[in-house]
Amino acid sequence: MDNFTFVYKGRYFLKEAETLERLSAIARRNGRRTHLVYDRDIFGAGDNVFNAVCLNALFSSVRGTARKVEPGATAVFLATMNNAGWIGRVIDAINSRRAGIKTIVIAAFEDLLPDVTANHTLIGEPESVFARFLEPGCNAPARLIVDEPADLDALPLPDKELFGGYAPAAESYMIYTGRGCAGSCSYCEETVYKKQLNGYCRRRTPENVMAELVHAQRAYGIKEVLFKDSVFTQDGPWLALFLAAYREKIGVPFKCFAKADAFNETMARQLKDSGCYCVEFGVQTINGDLRRNVLNRRETLEAVRAACLACNTCGLLYDIDHMFGIPHETVEDHKEAARWYASLRGLNRIKCHNLTYYKCADITGYAIAAGDIASVPVDEEAGFFSTPVKKKLQWENRCFQKLFKTLPLLSETSVRALVRGNGWKLFGWAPAALIMIAQLIIALRNNDLRFKVYLKYYPKLLRPGNLKRVYV
Ligand code: SF4
Repeated sequence: MDNFTFVYKGRYFLKEAETLERLSAIARRNGRRTHLVYDRDIFGAGDNVFNAVCLNALFSSVRGTARKVEPGATAVFLATMNNAGWIGRVIDAINSRRAGIKTIVIAAFEDLLPDVTANHTLIGEPESVFARFLEPGCNAPARLIVDEPADLDALPLPDKELFGGYAPAAESYMIYTGRGCAGSCSYCEETVYKKQLNGYCRRRTPENVMAELVHAQRAYGIKEVLFKDSVFTQDGPWLALFLAAYREKIGVPFKCFAKADAFNETMARQLKDSGCYCVEFGVQTINGDLRRNVLNRRETLEAVRAACLACNTCGLLYDIDHMFGIPHETVEDHKEAARWYASLRGLNRIKCHNLTYYKCADITGYAIAAGDIASVPVDEEAGFFSTPVKKKLQWENRCFQKLFKTLPLLSETSVRALVRGNGWKLFGWAPAALIMIAQLIIALRNNDLRFKVYLKYYPKLLRPGNLKRVYV
């Protein structure tokens, strides 16, 4: 087994893609060759720019994906919270049409496994169990379970060449400085992983993270860094130490994610002085009862306002994540959210998404009890950005999603007027292109680097030549 092909479907800027880069690096360190077969799920449930199921079917094909795995290779699949069905279909296609290809499925825990049987099933933290599988003397067992977390500082640097043709590291370098989060939100995969994986939450040393960035700087000449940790500001002393080194040795603009109850003005100042151009906060709902008792989020609205104010004081842009489809949400909640968001100063974007029902996440129980869903939805149908699974309030939620996406362009008075009457309903009829133009104006006005990267690369995904690279 010396030739591994990682098979992946989804966006690049996700934890799973970085995990595959790590797995590829581990394989290469062990003298193996690695390749990627990549279904970018264009227009699919995971496409955060534009999604349309009928168009997605033109570009995304299980058989096409299976065909791309070369004879003699070992196809490696990473099971996530919602891809067991897709993995099962691709493995079925490989088994029925492609002789001589072995398959490996790696899953953090048993419940994520697909129904089909792969040649090898590895269970545990992916880097940890895959490294053990490759050890001389392990003898490639059909089933391997490893219950130890990987030493993050001892892992080889991620293999950025794996996705190199699709997501040039130079433009936007994705990095994780640790795993997990101190929060326990009922809908979040981090909460599930924390429950399932021994020692899941931990951080790399600032020196180790810097070593990766210095290497990236030399190898690719990076122009932007995207710190994808769920809460980059979780540990104040770590942050101060790291940012001091970052300012000195890297200094390119970056974006990160934070949580209002793990954020203050000192951090905002340090981030701004180090090149941060935007911080993203999860808020999800303005309704305190839903936030505490359904989402299990502990921060107060006052803390969120204080965090936004700290950013504004330091001249730091901030985005807010807002979730639709929460059990027991009402139109009144959305109106209140519109008023509250409109009262903020310096808000860059409100990023809207639908609740996704992950396996083993507590919120699924609330959703079933509320009559939103009958059972856990299967795989890709659970659209984070696409048509929501929950049928209640679909039209109303669509109206408010569009209103929220354009809200930073509107005055507080006009937003209040829109939600006082029925004006918000007009947004339901607004064409998607118009909303995109409004978002573009916001991005240009705020000089939003992240949006510019999308603008530069998303159209390239759609060029016929690029599509052929994966599917022909
Ligand atoms: S704070 Fe964010 S990352 Fe942490 S558990 Fe909640 S949703 Fe997940």
